[in-house]
Amino acid sequence: TSFDIVKFAEEITEEMQLIAKQNQNIIYQHTGTFSTANLDQSLLRNCITNLVSNAIKYSGENTFIEFNTEMNDNSLIVVIKDNGIGIPDEDQKHLFEAFFRAHNTGNIPGTGLGLNIVTRYARLMNGVIKFESKVNEGTSFTLTFPNNHE
Ligand code: ATP
Ligand code: MG
Repeated sequence: TSFDIVKFAEEITEEMQLIAKQNQNIIYQHTGTFSTANLDQSLLRNCITNLVSNAIKYSGENTFIEFNTEMNDNSLIVVIKDNGIGIPDEDQKHLFEAFFRAHNTGNIPGTGLGLNIVTRYARLMNGVIKFESKVNEGTSFTLTFPNNHE
């Protein structure tokens, strides 16, 4: 069943803002002429909440998190970008392995399962996940899904 990506993403943004740190603002924006998504809502929600909760957890107070959706003729792109601790280069190739945690997480709690689940769910939606990251600068994750906006 189809749904409106903007309404859906705004709801998630409101929910996630409640668990964000002091002065950590989640800024949502949509671009593109279309906004009808034809994807599994609960799988997509799980992917986004996992990535946004990582962005919250691995970045500090007084920062902002950008959450963007873009809908083209036949795809939906979701970007979640933070200005947090980043992921060391040598850890990046292991990031999607179950139970893997990067070496700069210090005493930030976690099990290392979230991203592994996101990759599985993304694959179920025929999606692709990519990321870019720089230590002490930040990280951005991009999910790309084939989507029929009719
Ligand atoms: P959980 O299972 O509770 O999600 P987790 O957050 O440690 O635990 P993942 O979400 O799978 O596990 O992330 C794996 C690792 O990737 C993290 O431990 C962290 O080292 C790194 N990581 C993920 N997202 C970010 C991010 N936005 N900024 C910096 N490091 C990140
Ligand atoms: Mg996580």
